[in-house]
Amino acid sequence: MKREGILFVVSAPSGAGKTSLCKEIIDIFQGLRHSVSYTTRPMRPGEKDGVDYHFVSAGAFEKMVAEGAFAEWAEVHGNRYGTALATLEEARAAGQDVLLDIDCQGAAQLKKNYRQGVFVFILPPDFQELRRRLVGRNTDSAEVIERRIANARGEIREAAWYDYIVVNDDFEQALAELKSIVLAEGCRSGRVLDGLKDVFEFGA
Ligand code: 5GP
Repeated sequence: MKREGILFVVSAPSGAGKTSLCKEIIDIFQGLRHSVSYTTRPMRPGEKDGVDYHFVSAGAFEKMVAEGAFAEWAEVHGNRYGTALATLEEARAAGQDVLLDIDCQGAAQLKKNYRQGVFVFILPPDFQELRRRLVGRNTDSAEVIERRIANARGEIREAAWYDYIVVNDDFEQALAELKSIVLAEGCRSGRVLDGLKDVFEFGA
């Protein structure tokens, strides 16, 4: 079945477990690729250029913005991040499903131009648990943690316009829900009919 690729957009406040859920879902679905974003933030230990992100200078990023090379971009925690238009167009043409792990500002930009996209928000069960996870990571200072929690309050308000919300209380349950979303979206009648139009004569 050759249908148009599906664009999955996943957002969450930091500490909700989005990164782990996205990694698992990419491993599970062979036909689903992670879209590699461009960023101006420095590379963290263990990260690879071209795999985790395309790490670029502020100047190179600015040039891409000026050239209209981004489908969306935003400033997050003081750094810039963007999804290249070419990445999405190539995936769409190839019938490749892609998953974008991006913030709410970027997702809102895409919502306008990619109406067929599937927008998923991951929520933590409550603020207490969010704080516990951020502290447990042991990567941020108390001040940064408080800033992330304050930001989370604003981000969570955005959840209302997403197509789906997954509450990540129990990881396995959240993963099962995310899997169900990916599977169900692939079974939407419009997509299946599109994929099988050369096999069956629908509407004839
Ligand atoms: P991190 O620096 O921890 O990898 O990511 C920080 C935030 O930037 C996360 O919320 C992540 O989803 C978001 N992000 C990553 N890539 C993009 C992108 O291409 N566009 C937008 N708008 N946000 C992104």
